[in-house]
Amino acid sequence: MADRYDAVVVGAGPNGLTAAALLAREGLGVLVVEASEDLGGGLRTRELTLPGFRHDVCSAVHTMGCLSPAFELLELTRHGLRWQHPPASVAHPLDGEQAVLLRGSPAETGAELGADLASYRGLIEPFLARPRELIADLLAPLGLPRQPLLLARFGWLGLRSARQLAFGRFQGEAARALFAGCAAHAVQPLEHALTAAFGLTFAVAGHIAAWPVARGGSQAIADALLRVCREHGVELSVGRHVRSLRELPASRVVLLDVAPRQLSEIAGEVLPDSFRYELSRYRMGPGCFKLDFALDGPIPWLDERCALASTVHVGGTFDEIAAAEKATWDGEHPARPFVMVTQQSHFDETRAPAGKHTGYAYCHVPNGSSHDMTAAIEGQIERFAPGFRERILARHRLFPRDFEAYNPSYIGGAVTGGVADAGQLFTRPSLRLDPYSTPDPRLYLCSQSTPPGGGVHGMCGFYAARSALRRHFGKRLQLPVDTARAST
Ligand SMILES: Cc1cc2nc3c(=O)[nH]c(=O)nc-3n(C[C@H](O)[C@H](O)[C@H](O)COP(=O)(O)OP(=O)(O)OC[C@H]3O[C@@H](n4cnc5c(N)ncnc54)[C@H](O)[C@@H]3O)c2cc1C
Repeated sequence: MADRYDAVVVGAGPNGLTAAALLAREGLGVLVVEASEDLGGGLRTRELTLPGFRHDVCSAVHTMGCLSPAFELLELTRHGLRWQHPPASVAHPLDGEQAVLLRGSPAETGAELGADLASYRGLIEPFLARPRELIADLLAPLGLPRQPLLLARFGWLGLRSARQLAFGRFQGEAARALFAGCAAHAVQPLEHALTAAFGLTFAVAGHIAAWPVARGGSQAIADALLRVCREHGVELSVGRHVRSLRELPASRVVLLDVAPRQLSEIAGEVLPDSFRYELSRYRMGPGCFKLDFALDGPIPWLDERCALASTVHVGGTFDEIAAAEKATWDGEHPARPFVMVTQQSHFDETRAPAGKHTGYAYCHVPNGSSHDMTAAIEGQIERFAPGFRERILARHRLFPRDFEAYNPSYIGGAVTGGVADAGQLFTRPSLRLDPYSTPDPRLYLCSQSTPPGGGVHGMCGFYAARSALRRHFGKRLQLPVDTARAST
């Protein structure tokens, strides 16, 4: 390790690695310091159950990753990343009825929704006119949108709660439930303002490109980012949990891929009390309880079409999902949680031995909970796939405390960087014109606790790197979508 760098990045998650790669591409000398022995943060894949079964420890399905303008800029597919797109993004099983599938065009999905066909098409189709620009606008901090009218429409619909939008637009349970499953990625009650924006974002994204998994595991995304980093000379230092800025070599800027509370601890001595107070008030939100399964065969869904989807939203009707998410928010453990199930091995044969499958399921739980949700999660899957338990060869549990031990940014098991509600979505971690900056001009936050928030897309890293490059190095960073627009 040298004694001086242009930039030091603390944390090698997708945002830290994206920032490091972008800074190094601009010719800066960059060091990445990571607490864990392996790199990738939420992008690691391990044999958690039995030999030959490769499980995504955290992130699994890359709805935003495959559309990310930052990943496009870094040409991750040229660096070995392969997206495996399923026939359907989502399957949503319902008791005693056919499952609903989010797939293909809005007309194809709408055909599953009976009387709500026209409403569904009317809701989604306008957003598909200029998908690249829309995604770039959605995955950005507040500012001048590329598509002002389209974004105004999105905001007008998305500002409301998922309940308002689903019950205002749709007459039938199928459409409402499908929307609830997409909106529940907000990790908050579906009666909260802005939860409709999550439902819309996830549904629209599924019509741009079916929600993919990464061939070889989510680790493959980190590996592609690392290839770009190495190509541009980024140095990597692993197994170093940074507790103070004093532990770092000298540099012109430091970018931290950490939670706000960690920022306050690491950089406390250079940050004013008022800013530290704001960071201390930042809300992390519910935690996560996860199960990984080695399975003797595919999950035996009653509706076999569920096998076509990378993600199965298991929770039943809109009201059931809303009740589960509200209970979690209120500190309870619902008997029938909303469960996200993913089926990577259906679309990527590298995940399990021939004829076998991996299973992945998690639900939200109160922050820091130590409650074992195994029976509740498996009960929900059995409800729509009787005989599921008999297929389990081995299971692995991750409680909120395990997530925090695994990654110090997952405080209390909260895995998406903090509550993304009206109070924190755009002003994370605090109200500043440049949300990546801090009162210390040398320091930047580049984690999912900045806009646009949680998920594997690297856009927090992009905007933090852009800010540091502009202020300290006089360089301008552009997304491919903007370069293309400028040249037409
Ligand atoms: C169970 C689960 C399921 C998920 N599913 C999906 C999904 O399907 N799709 C999706 O897009 N997203 C998903 N996510 C969310 C996604 O993983 C995160 O949004 C994403 O990883 C955030 O990236 P990041 O770079 O901001 O932070 P992280 O990925 O959290 O990386 C931060 C890195 O910083 C390191 N670090 C922290 N503190 C320090 C320190 N003090 N010193 C040194 N290093 C430090 C950590 O070890 C870690 O490597 C899921 C997350 C979990 C846990």
